[in-house]
Amino acid sequence: ADSIDEECDYLFKAVLIGDSGVGKSNLLSRFSKDEFRLDSKPTIGVEFAYRNIKVGDKLIKAQIWDTAGQERFRAITSSYYRGALGAILVYDITRKLSFENVSKWLWELREYGNSDMVIVLAGNKSDLSHSREVTEEEGKIFAETEGLCFMETSALENVNVERVFLDMISKIHQITS
Ligand code: GDP
Ligand code: MG
Repeated sequence: ADSIDEECDYLFKAVLIGDSGVGKSNLLSRFSKDEFRLDSKPTIGVEFAYRNIKVGDKLIKAQIWDTAGQERFRAITSSYYRGALGAILVYDITRKLSFENVSKWLWELREYGNSDMVIVLAGNKSDLSHSREVTEEEGKIFAETEGLCFMETSALENVNVERVFLDMISKIHQITS
C-alpha cells in the first residue's frame, strides 16, 4: 500500500542525502523493496518510498525521501528537509571526495533541518574493499566528532541496510515518544 493507512501509529519522514552516485537510491530500494540495480540511472519520478516497521507494539510508517538527482550543493530546496525527523547521509567508501563532501551535507542539514534530527552516516559500497579510499576508522572518527551514528553498508550485498534504517527509525521513535 502506497497510501497512508489508518492503522499506523506514527508517520515519520526521513531523507537521504549525499553526493550523486554514492548509492542512495539503491539503499532505499533495497530497504523498501529488496531490490538492487547495477545500471542505476539518476532518480527520476520516485520521490519517496514507504515501509511499515513494528517498534515495540507500535506500527511506524517510515516515509523516506530520495533526492531526485538534485545532489549539486544547494540545489536541494528546504522543502526536502521540512518535517524530516531523520536523515541518512551517505558517502561512497571508494570515492574520497564523497566523504570530504559529507561536511557540506551536514552543514546544509543543520541549516535547513530540524535541530534534533537523527542523523546516521553511512559509508556505502563496503563490498568494494579492493578500491577503498576511505577507511572505516576515518568514517567512525568523523561520526564521533560530529555526534552521528555510523556504519558501513552495502546495498549490493545487503549488508547493514536494514540496520541503518532501523537504527534511525528506532532513535526517532525514542525521541518522539
Ligand atoms: P545515488 O545517485 O546516490 O542514488 O546512487 P545510485 O543508487 O543510483 O547508485 C549509483 C551506482 O552505484 C549504481 O551503479 C549502483 O549500482 C552502484 N551501487 C549502489 N550501491 C552499491 C553498493 O553497495 N555496492 C556496489 N558495488 N555498487 C553500488
Ligand atoms: Mg539516486
